[in-house]
Amino acid sequence: MNIDSIVYFARELSGDVETNINGTPYTILSRHKNQPGNDKAADYIQQKLEYYGLEVFNQSFGSIGRNVYGVQTGTDYPNQKYIICAHYDDMPSGTLAPGADDNGSGTAAVLETARVLSQQQFPFTIIYALWDEEEQGLIGSAYYAANAASQGDSILGVINQDMIAWDDNDDGNADVHTKSVGESHALKDKMLEVNLTYEIGLDLDVIDPGEPYSDHQSFWNNGFTAILLIEDDNDFNNYYHTTNDLFIHYNQPYYEKMAKLSAATLATLALNLDMRISHTPIASRDNTEDIQTSAEIITGLTIGSGNAAPRLYYRLSQGNEWSEFFEVIGSEANINTTYNFTIPGQSLGTIVQYYIAAQDDQESIIVTLPMGGSGYNPPGNIPPEEFFQFFVATTNIAFSDSAMNADSWTATGNWNITTEKFVSEPSSFA
Ligand SMILES: [Zn+2]
Repeated sequence: MNIDSIVYFARELSGDVETNINGTPYTILSRHKNQPGNDKAADYIQQKLEYYGLEVFNQSFGSIGRNVYGVQTGTDYPNQKYIICAHYDDMPSGTLAPGADDNGSGTAAVLETARVLSQQQFPFTIIYALWDEEEQGLIGSAYYAANAASQGDSILGVINQDMIAWDDNDDGNADVHTKSVGESHALKDKMLEVNLTYEIGLDLDVIDPGEPYSDHQSFWNNGFTAILLIEDDNDFNNYYHTTNDLFIHYNQPYYEKMAKLSAATLATLALNLDMRISHTPIASRDNTEDIQTSAEIITGLTIGSGNAAPRLYYRLSQGNEWSEFFEVIGSEANINTTYNFTIPGQSLGTIVQYYIAAQDDQESIIVTLPMGGSGYNPPGNIPPEEFFQFFVATTNIAFSDSAMNADSWTATGNWNITTEKFVSEPSSFA
């Protein structure tokens, strides 16, 4: 992703600079559906997507509605699709409607993603889609999604971007909207993970259930996996739907991060760079025996071996402090995607925190559980911010000395006292 390129697209779309559409100079002054500039914007989008070598479709609906999308066919799974999208139409309704943030920003980000990713091959099909008539009630995306549903399309995930360049207080905060539809939560998790793995540096809030006010809702309505990436709702664009929604109000470093996050999430998924760790957290125990646990690594890639083999890292409470992390190398179980780990027995009164990490043999992806760790060879040598934890203690000690008065234990977060029957959630300790 190139900030100069993406910003230039946004300036062309919002009339900040003149562009050239099919050989003729043109300045896009309004992308309201009833203005001639909107159809010109669609021509501009089509021209860009064709230039990148994509197969481009114009999808007409209503009297003048026009979605434009480019298709990059997957090499292994051509019928399974990821969609990255934005609406290109805007408000207000007059002859002047720059819509730089809403939604020139999302549109330019999709085009820049197409420019970069169209040079690569992906196992899954990618669709770069720009919707029309979002402002009249998600009409373009609803038309597409309903069609896709009725013809049984296999849409694995939709990343919608709508208003991604405004960050007036410069806090790097953005919202990811998700909902219990399809695998939307897993898609949201992947975006959060990509933000950490690639150190993009956004401060992401999850909105669940997400708001219905942009094109992702059209996909939710048809049962498809979808998320929305959008600016912080508490730092709202002052010029929303006005003739002052101009490029000069962009926070460019923020915009670049937002565009990168969407593109990197899409690329990770479309490259089948997916890797997940499935693990039942270790329960607290009242004995000092060795602690056995296991994790399943789910991926289409080859799991690393040797120095790249899955790891479990644990640390121990020591008075007010934590020990360093100790490393346990996973050993392959009979089912070769499952790995066993043995933590040595600990004395009663110990709190143990731990996380699990895995990478592929080509060093294309590293995942930790809880998420957020990084580093290759060994995987996860940089810990996440949250850990699983359990207690090695007699029930008596845990309840009378610890939970009740906290004299014998030191921690700075919630206790989450556990028994054999209750397993603690991941929790963060200083
Ligand atoms: Zn919008």
